[in-house]
Amino acid sequence: MCAKSNIPKLFVELVPSTCHFSNVRTTVKPSEWDTIRFMCYEAAGNKCEICGSTGKQQGYKHNVECHEIWDYDDENHIQKLVGLISLCPTCHQVKHIGRAIAIGKQTACFIQLAKVNKWTQKQIDDHILAAFELHKQRSKHQWELDISMLSKAPYNIKLKPMKERVFEVKKFKKKPKKKTTSSAPKKKKVHPKAKIAAVLKPKTKTTTKRPPKK
Ligand SMILES: [Zn+2]
Repeated sequence: MCAKSNIPKLFVELVPSTCHFSNVRTTVKPSEWDTIRFMCYEAAGNKCEICGSTGKQQGYKHNVECHEIWDYDDENHIQKLVGLISLCPTCHQVKHIGRAIAIGKQTACFIQLAKVNKWTQKQIDDHILAAFELHKQRSKHQWELDISMLSKAPYNIKLKPMKERVFEVKKFKKKPKKKTTSSAPKKKKVHPKAKIAAVLKPKTKTTTKRPPKK
């Protein structure tokens, strides 16, 4: 429907909450994930494939992170891995903005969206609201995972049948729970969803902060 040129350079990609084991890192062995991500970093010259920056330029200890690009078949509910790209930590945070909001890092995401797409705060707000709406709709369904892309060149990973893989994923994920023995008063936790809702709430006053111009 929309022309390719209408797709912004940087946009939010939220994974539906009903997608289980929906990231490559937890679906393959840790050693395989390392192979995949280092191939990805090298192919991109250790620079962000969206903004050209690196994590070290942004104050991080690492340069890039591997981001999974998913295609969602909204009719058959298949979540298919269609690509892997290297992103700087800031662009990667924008992709998973729900998480960024939950840890209070939304301002950096807004600034990055404004800088890369040359967007106003209104365009940013509209885009984020639309992304969350799509996330809400997609989270109503169960999704089948298709990561067959990894079994082909250049990755050539021998993927086990899903049932076995899920079992292994659980095994890798399992971590013993730490018992807290301290008697210090616990900080009141704000649920991540509440934080997201607060950020997405339409503003009554238009006190939009403009990102610094460069
Ligand atoms: Zn970037």
